[in-house]
Amino acid sequence: MIRDPENESMPRERLERLQLERLRAKVGEVYERVPFYRRTLKEKGVTPDDIQSLADLRKLPFTSKLDFRDNYPFGLMAVPMEQVVRIHSSSGTTGKPIIAPYTRHDVDTWAEIMARTLTSAGTTENDVLQNAYGYGLFTGGLGFHHGAELLGATVIPTSTGNTKRQILMIQDLGTTVITCTPSYAITLHEAAREMGVDLRDTTLRLGIHGAEPWSEKMREDIEDRLGIIAINVYGLTEVIGPGVSVECPYKCGMHIWEDHFLAEVINPETGEQLPYGEEGELVITTLTKEAQPVIRFRTRDIISLNPEPCDCGRTMVRMSRLTGRSDDMLIVRGVNVFPSQIESVLLEVEGVEPHYLIVVDRQHAFKTDELEIWVEVSDEVFSDEMGKMENLEKRLRSEMDSVLGIAARIKLVEPRTIARTEGKAKRVVDRSEL
Ligand code: ADP
Ligand code: ZN
Repeated sequence: MIRDPENESMPRERLERLQLERLRAKVGEVYERVPFYRRTLKEKGVTPDDIQSLADLRKLPFTSKLDFRDNYPFGLMAVPMEQVVRIHSSSGTTGKPIIAPYTRHDVDTWAEIMARTLTSAGTTENDVLQNAYGYGLFTGGLGFHHGAELLGATVIPTSTGNTKRQILMIQDLGTTVITCTPSYAITLHEAAREMGVDLRDTTLRLGIHGAEPWSEKMREDIEDRLGIIAINVYGLTEVIGPGVSVECPYKCGMHIWEDHFLAEVINPETGEQLPYGEEGELVITTLTKEAQPVIRFRTRDIISLNPEPCDCGRTMVRMSRLTGRSDDMLIVRGVNVFPSQIESVLLEVEGVEPHYLIVVDRQHAFKTDELEIWVEVSDEVFSDEMGKMENLEKRLRSEMDSVLGIAARIKLVEPRTIARTEGKAKRVVDRSEL
């Protein structure tokens, strides 16, 4: 189902005309109203009039996470505070919080974008949607909530945590759609198992997961354990929150809602724009946001874009599954790896649970010669004789070496010993934090 075919499936030439029109208006607006943008544009020697085509986008300066910090809290705002109806803030995975103000119009647009997002994932007004993303400052909870209500689904705003009650709700209220981080989906399955509940026997049929990197292998695992279809959804606080992009039922990349978000991929080292298909850092310009528009925001997320038409009928470009944030990249003896790549190698191996920690020495930043990976094993493997554990360890070491080309020390740990999170899972830790 497509909620808004006129926009979601518009011919790309028309989309590009719309994008250019919106881009020009937005650049003019921030130049006028936000001293920060006036300064960065002037530094690059550009004025809004220089934007005559979408190709001129590359003339514009980038905006980074650092600029958000330097202008904390309201320095990037383009409207007076009276027009702001809500303020969110990032979960702060990587440092000082980022403030995200919304006007009334922004809140409405976001709800519409989320209704579109949920529909693309396969939700309808007949669904009972249990929203286990965190409510509060984090954009996840309220973002999904308003979208699902607008769509007309029945929303159960459980927020994160109280996992036993989540299971009871699924059973008693007939939840059909669960929205939560992928790692929390695994936690739900484990809690259900402990309660003697098989989630595959419940009404649950669809999961919409995002906010953290997860591998294709993790998707299979979640689908299998919960007996659902699991769909990938992407977003970030600086841009709007969840709903920047989402998969359709074909699961072949996440459609970016390009009538609102203008996407480019750049070489993170040189800043140079890369052609479709090449992997690089995703850069987003918001085309409709009022309270805090962003121009060429560097997400630090590494992806590639595919503009081919999709079987679902949408014309909007698709972004690949994220390998990870550039900040999370580890350099192990010169080899670049992301935690999610390590995850997919681990989960290929039988007897391994989807809980792991990558232990590094901050001393060497994320460049390291030695990598240690803690992996939880299943109850069956753990209760078996020593030999099985040894074999598993050997197998993991050799898989890591042959697939990723990295030598890693593997430490197998007892079931349920790696801390569970309700929101975003923390996969990389410094040894000093242990
Ligand atoms: P914080 O930066 O504090 O984590 P956000 O909630 O704004 O706060 O996080 C947004 C980031 O989360 C994205 O830039 C991306 O790195 C990650 N993320 C969001 N959705 C996904 C997804 N589906 N797959 C992988 N990473 C994701
Ligand atoms: Zn599609």
